[in-house]
Amino acid sequence: MNSIGTTILQMLKNEINEVDYQRYIKQLKFNIQESRSDLAVFNVPNPLIANWIRTKYADKISHLFEIKTGIKSTVTISVGITKTKPSSSNITIPQQHVGERPPLALLNPSYTFNNFVVGGSNNFAYVASKNVSEKPGIVYNPLFIYGGVGLGKTHLMQAVGNVMQAAGKIVIYTSVEQFLNDFVRHLHNNTMERFKDKYRKCDLLLIDDIQFLSGKNQIQEEFFHTFEALRNENKQIIITSDKHPKKIAGLEERLKSRFEWGLVADIQPPELETKIEIIHKKCEISRVKLDRDVINYVATIIENNTREIEGILSKLNAYSQLMGVDINIEFARNVLKEQIAEKRLNITIDTIVDIVSKELNVKASEIRSKSRNSGIVYARRVAIYLSRNLTPNSMPQLAHYFGMKDHTAVSHTMKKIHEMMKNDEDFKVKVDELSNKISVMTME
Ligand code: ADP
Ligand code: MG
Repeated sequence: MNSIGTTILQMLKNEINEVDYQRYIKQLKFNIQESRSDLAVFNVPNPLIANWIRTKYADKISHLFEIKTGIKSTVTISVGITKTKPSSSNITIPQQHVGERPPLALLNPSYTFNNFVVGGSNNFAYVASKNVSEKPGIVYNPLFIYGGVGLGKTHLMQAVGNVMQAAGKIVIYTSVEQFLNDFVRHLHNNTMERFKDKYRKCDLLLIDDIQFLSGKNQIQEEFFHTFEALRNENKQIIITSDKHPKKIAGLEERLKSRFEWGLVADIQPPELETKIEIIHKKCEISRVKLDRDVINYVATIIENNTREIEGILSKLNAYSQLMGVDINIEFARNVLKEQIAEKRLNITIDTIVDIVSKELNVKASEIRSKSRNSGIVYARRVAIYLSRNLTPNSMPQLAHYFGMKDHTAVSHTMKKIHEMMKNDEDFKVKVDELSNKISVMTME
């Protein structure tokens, strides 16, 4: 049997032109040792080819993985000769046999505690997970982590998995769907004993997105027994969900109550500072170089779903490689223009005036007045500048709103602010901060 990587390359061959295949794709070697279910690593002998494939075919390869395995894989093209034996292109995926040690759980190797940025929003879940990784089966069992999409639940759960797997423990990472499919398959093949064996003999069971158990009665029953068996043996269980166990509709009471036996930890949306740190981390991991102001900018345009970051970074990176230019703030703004266009629709001049008035301690009505008081003029200019940048309003519309003569007055204000920002670093920082604040507040 071919390895999944080889199968994917074969699929790709059928879809692309012969020249690309012969010249570039043929040089890809699937690196099965470093690959995981959601990370496909290929090696290629030289950086030029690597770059070329990354730009032109990485997305396509990732898509083929998704079609074939149902899991969205990140595709990494590394330079270097694969360490696998020469017959690597014929490696088979490890199969599980009765009584044998199960294959390693497919965990994302970059989901580690080290790579997790801790802030007020996730500190509790982080500390709980860390404790569990140090004393599995003892401190809190189960550990139940819940929170919105993209807030790091899977990351934390797999961080525990990575620690335990490195210590030689048997880890199973699964979704409700996989658990269910596995169950049905074994039921069908009359091999339920193997199913039980598999799930009851691990040291750590990670079940992601348990909310999908909702309404599936038979699998709830099976999961209940698995849960009981593991817990009786002090084997650690970690569960994630998008909501508190009490709030999962269509879930048996006995499961709900058991989910609360250990520790229930929530993750809240990250604060701006945490988002900034996470972007730093992601840049470090994917070796993308971004200036401080680009990072701040990206932090303000992502919503609470941290998952957006990776997409944005690879978009910036791909564009910059393609165009052969560095990523600076203008470049980032340009590339991400569409991404934020929709979000900007939420920002109105009223909101901007409101926030500026609070931040700069002047009344909103004063900002819209004709007062020449210097503090008020200052606040008014800032509000006009931000309204021009953050809303789709035209200069005449702004002139009308701020009670100015006509659009030339607005354009004059814009010039003035640009000048001030150029000459006064503190002022620039202040305006950028305000801009970030408005973007963030209007997104929530
Ligand atoms: P969830 O399972 O809660 O939907 P994930 O764990 O899949 O979210 O996280 C989405 C992405 O955001 C992942 O790439 C993850 O590494 C990253 N991420 C989320 N929170 C953090 C954090 N605090 N520090 C570093 N990366 C994070
Ligand atoms: Mg998840």
